[in-house]
Amino acid sequence: MSTLSYLHQLFNIGQCQAYIHTLRWKDRPLQCPRCQSLNVGPWGTYHAQPGLKRYRCKEKGCKRTFNDLTATLLHRSKRSLPHWILATFLLCLSCSSRRIARELGVHSRTSYRWCWWLRNAAVSYETDRRLEGTVEADDLYHTAGTKGQAQGGGTKAVGRRARGRRKKREPGRGHDDKDPPAIIAWVSRQGAVVIQATRDFTVKTV
Ligand SMILES: [Zn+2]
Repeated sequence: MSTLSYLHQLFNIGQCQAYIHTLRWKDRPLQCPRCQSLNVGPWGTYHAQPGLKRYRCKEKGCKRTFNDLTATLLHRSKRSLPHWILATFLLCLSCSSRRIARELGVHSRTSYRWCWWLRNAAVSYETDRRLEGTVEADDLYHTAGTKGQAQGGGTKAVGRRARGRRKKREPGRGHDDKDPPAIIAWVSRQGAVVIQATRDFTVKTV
């Protein structure tokens, strides 16, 4: 067992909850996640999750209760908030899902699933990001992997004649139906980056 495991236990649950609260309502007032009403008030706490504040929507016809995690990925998770915050932090440091599983003390399948959810959630916020000011663009081809290739590139010696079953591709690089797909990176001088997968790099597409 790694000494770094159970790092999440060093996190204070109260601080994590306060952090999530500020993060969620940073640029908008506290509102009901179901009917978006601003007519809400405090409504005690939870027995099972001490420290998590509960709110109640006072809108006619709604009257539902909610908390800072309602309608988010973390809602009704069996794992604690420190688990999630550490997982997100490690994912941002490009840690593998296996490594995250080790640090959190969860099953590797759990962390694999979490990584997917977190990435998808991050992407869903960024679908209509627009860049401002001077924007530079560059093209690149992303290779899906080096499976079947010798280390350092080239073909791997298989000890027999190649069967020649590899798909024949059209001339030119980066078709969207083949590996490697074409990707355009738009970089704003102000720091924001948008990475976009495209069909090809013809002038028309760009
Ligand atoms: Zn409501």
